[in-house]
Amino acid sequence: MAIETGTLGFPRIGRKRELKKALEGYWKGELAESGLWEVFQRIESDNWQTQLSAGINHVAVGDMSLYDHVLDLSFRLGLVPERFGRLKGLELYFALARGAQGAHALDLTKWFDTNYHYLVPELGDPRPITADFSSYLDSLKRGQSQLGSRASAVVLGPVTYLALARTKDLGGWLSRLLPVYRDLLAQIKALGIAEVQLHEPILVTESATKLFPLIAETIQELAPVSPPIVLQTYFDDLGQIYRQALELPVAGIGLDFTRGDNLALLAAHGFPGDKILAAGVVDGRSVWRVRRQALEPVLAALQSQDNLRIQPSSSLQFVPYSLAPETALPQPLKGALAFADEKLAELKILASSFANGVDYAEIDSHWQPLREYRPAQSELRTRLANLSESDTNRTAPYAARKPQQIQLPIFPTTTIGSFPQTSEIRALRSRYLKGEIGLEAYQAGIDAQIAFCIGVQEGMGLDVLVHGESERTDMVEYFAQKLEGFAFTQSGWVQSYGNRCVRPGIIYGDITRPEPMTVREFKVAQSFTKKPVKGMLTGPVTILNWSFPRTDLSRAAQAYQIAWALRQEIGDLEAAGARVIQVDEPALREGLPLKASRWNQYLEFAVRSFRLATTGAKPETQVQTHMCYSEFGEIMEAIEALDADVILIENARSDDATLRQLAGQGYPREVGPGVYDIHSPVVPSTNEILAKLESFTAAFPPERIWITPDCGLKTRNWSEVIPALQHMVAAAGLLRAREQVNHD
Ligand code: GLN
Ligand code: ZN
Repeated sequence: MAIETGTLGFPRIGRKRELKKALEGYWKGELAESGLWEVFQRIESDNWQTQLSAGINHVAVGDMSLYDHVLDLSFRLGLVPERFGRLKGLELYFALARGAQGAHALDLTKWFDTNYHYLVPELGDPRPITADFSSYLDSLKRGQSQLGSRASAVVLGPVTYLALARTKDLGGWLSRLLPVYRDLLAQIKALGIAEVQLHEPILVTESATKLFPLIAETIQELAPVSPPIVLQTYFDDLGQIYRQALELPVAGIGLDFTRGDNLALLAAHGFPGDKILAAGVVDGRSVWRVRRQALEPVLAALQSQDNLRIQPSSSLQFVPYSLAPETALPQPLKGALAFADEKLAELKILASSFANGVDYAEIDSHWQPLREYRPAQSELRTRLANLSESDTNRTAPYAARKPQQIQLPIFPTTTIGSFPQTSEIRALRSRYLKGEIGLEAYQAGIDAQIAFCIGVQEGMGLDVLVHGESERTDMVEYFAQKLEGFAFTQSGWVQSYGNRCVRPGIIYGDITRPEPMTVREFKVAQSFTKKPVKGMLTGPVTILNWSFPRTDLSRAAQAYQIAWALRQEIGDLEAAGARVIQVDEPALREGLPLKASRWNQYLEFAVRSFRLATTGAKPETQVQTHMCYSEFGEIMEAIEALDADVILIENARSDDATLRQLAGQGYPREVGPGVYDIHSPVVPSTNEILAKLESFTAAFPPERIWITPDCGLKTRNWSEVIPALQHMVAAAGLLRAREQVNHD
C-alpha cells in the first residue's frame, strides 16, 4: 500500500516571478491593490493545482505571502512599532518591510541557516493584542474549496515567532498570544479544515531545551480547540528534546531526515505508533534528486513505522519551481536535478513504492550520467587529500611579514571594493549579453569605469585603492561563472525576501579554475595609478554558502576545491604586481550550524579553506579580509585563526562591540572598523566620522586602525559616495594631524 504524502509550503514568487513584478508595479503606482491581490491568488491557486495534480495528500495552504511570512504574522497580530503611526492596510504592511518617511523598516535577517530573509518582529511594550486574521482565513477557504480535505493549514508557531522577535519576556508574551492562537485555531476548525501544521523550527536549535516548557504549554492550550495538529520541525534534529516531544498531545510530528541526526534519535527512542510520523525524506533545500546513500538508511528505519507520511524536509520555497524551462542545462546534469515540481514527483514515487521496496537502481540511474559528464578531477582530489602544514600556513608569522609589507601612513584609508553599479554599467552589460556589442567593446567600457573609479579615489586622497568591481553583477556569481564545476539556470529563481530573488549557481562537479578570473581588471586599474590597488576576491566559504552545494561530496571538500582555485588566483595577482589582496567572507558567520555542538566542525573547515586560499601569498603580500552584518562575538577565535593581515569589519551598527572584543582578546593585527553605514543614503559629516574614529582609538590601539566604510558601495549613487568618502578622508587627515602633534 502506498503511504501518504504532504507538503510544508511551495515557492511563492510565481513561476515567472509574477509576484516580484506585481509588487514593483504596485509600489510604482502602476498596479492597483486589487491587481496585486489577483496575482497573489493566482500564484496561490496555481501552486495548489500543481500539488493536487501531483497527488499530494496533505497540501500546505496559508503559506503564501505578499512579502514575508514572519511579517505577515506581526501584521495580523497588530504587533507594529509606534513609529509607523497611523498607517494602515498595505501601506503599513509595506512600510514595515521597506521603511517609510521618518520610520525605518523592521530589521531583516536570515531565516535560520537558510539564505531566505525574514523581518524581525519588534514587540515593544506589553499590550493587549487586537488580531485580524481575515485575509489568512480567506486564503484557507479558497484552499479548502480547491483542495477539499487535502488542505493542511500552515501556522507559524508562537514560540518560534517570539524567539525570533528576540524578546526577553517570552513567557509574558506567550500568555498574551495564546488566547489569540486559540481563537485562530478554533476558527480554522470551524471552517472544517482537516489539519493544522504548526511550524516550530525553533525546536531544532540550541534553545530548544529552554523553550520546551513553552511549547508544551502551547500545545496544551491549543490542542483541545484545534483541528488535529502536526507539529512541524525542520532544518535539524530534535536533539535532547526528542523524547519529550513524542509525549506532546499532538496528532503528528514532522521530522527532518535530511539534516542533523533524527535517524539516530529514532533508532534510539522509536516513535509512537499512534502518532503520525511526518518524515522529511526529500531535501526541501537542495536542488538535487534523492541519492541512494542518503535515502536507503532512512527508508530502512521507517519501513516498519505505523502512521507514516513522507514530505519534503521543509517548505519548498528554498528551491526554484521547475526544471521545465531549463533548456540550456546539459542533460546529464538536468537529469540529476530536482526543483519543487520534480520533488513532488519524487515524493509520490517514493510513497507508492514504499511497501514493495524502492527502486534504487532507478534512483542511481539519474546520477550515473553526471559522473561521466564531469568526472572527479583525480589530481585535484589527491592533492587536496594530502595537504601539508605548508599549504595552510604562511611562510612567515605575522610579526615577521608585517615589516616586509606595504608601508602606509597611520590611519590608512581604503574602501571595501565595489563602487556604484550605475544604470550605464548595467546597460553596457546588457548590450554585451544580448550580443549588441562584442567582448572588446564591453571590456573597453568596463575599463573606462575602472579609470573613473581610480581617478575619483586618487582625487580624494585614499591610500589603498580598488578597481570598483563594475564587471561583477554579484560577488559570488562572478567567480562561479568563471570556475568549472558550477552551472547556472535560466529561470531558477528563489526568493531572498519580498521582491528580491536570487539565482544561485549550482555546484555539480569538482571545481577548477581554467584561467585567471580577476587579473585583467587588476592590471588595468593598477596601470592608472602609482598607489596600491587591491586584488579583490570572494572567499571560499562565501562562494560555497551562497551557492547550491552538491550532496555527493562534503561541504568541506567543496570549500577546499574553491580555495585551491583562489590560491592560484592569488599567485597570479601577485605575479601581476598586487601588493594587497582582499578576500571577502561576508557569509562566514551566517554559515554557523544551528546547533553549537556542530560549530567546531564548521569553523574548522571554514578557517582551513580560507587559509588554504590565502596562505600561499608571499610574506610581503598584505592579505585583507572583509566581513559584515553579523554577530562576531561567537567567532572571534576563528577570525583570528584566519591569519589575515588586516580585517575590515562592519561596525557602524554594532557600536564598537566587535572592536572592544578584538582589543580584549589581544588581537595582534590591523583592523578597519566601518566608519559609516553604507545602507543608509545619509551622507555622514566629517565631524560625525571624526567622532566615530575617536571612539575607535579609545577602544583599539590607534596605530593598527584602518579607515573604511563598512561594506561595498555598489548600491549607492556617486552623489552620495563622493561626499561621504571625502568626509572620511578629511576626518582621517584631522586624526593624523593630531597624532602628529602628540608625537612631536
Ligand atoms: N567586495 C565586496 C563589495 O564591495 C564585498 C561585499 C560584501 O561584503 N557583501 O561589494
Ligand atoms: Zn560587506
